[in-house]
Order: sequence, then structure tokens, then C-alpha cells
Amino acid sequence: MDETRWTVEVDQSACLGTGVCASVFPARFGLTRGKSRPLHGESGPDAELLDAAELCPMGAILVRDRATGVNVLPEDD
Ligand code: SF4
Repeated sequence: MDETRWTVEVDQSACLGTGVCASVFPARFGLTRGKSRPLHGESGPDAELLDAAELCPMGAILVRDRATGVNVLPEDD
């Protein structure tokens, strides 16, 4: 059984509040006071989260491995 867990954050200083992520993935992101926030701060590995992180033009959606803290996306330089 895969115990891997990811954390999901939106960098509030980087988010432009375009709402693209919330439009494409309404079950995962919502806009509050002009900024996107994840509706669930944690998830099992999930392709939709990777799609959302890639979709954000600002790279503001941060997906990390909960156990290691290593970025899943955006990838570290
Ligand atoms: S797509 Fe990125 S910049 Fe746009 S609302 Fe979502 S997190 Fe913010």
C-alpha cells in the first residue's frame, strides 16, 4: 500500500487570483479574498494536482512530499 502523502499550498504572495485553478479544478481550489486556496491541504499522489501546479502561470501551487518536504512541483532548480 502506498503511504505517500502530498501537501498542497498556494503561495499567497505569488498568486494573482486569476481563478484559473479554481475554474479547472473546483473541487480542489477556491478563491478567497482574491487569492486561491487549496480546499484540501493534503492528498495522496494525484495527477490532477500536478496538472494544476503546471497550469498556474505563477508557479504558485506548491505540491510537496509530506514526509520529506521535497517539492514534487514546481521542481527544485
Ligand atoms: S492559477 Fe495560480 S495565480 Fe491563478 S488563482 Fe490559481 S494559484 Fe493563483
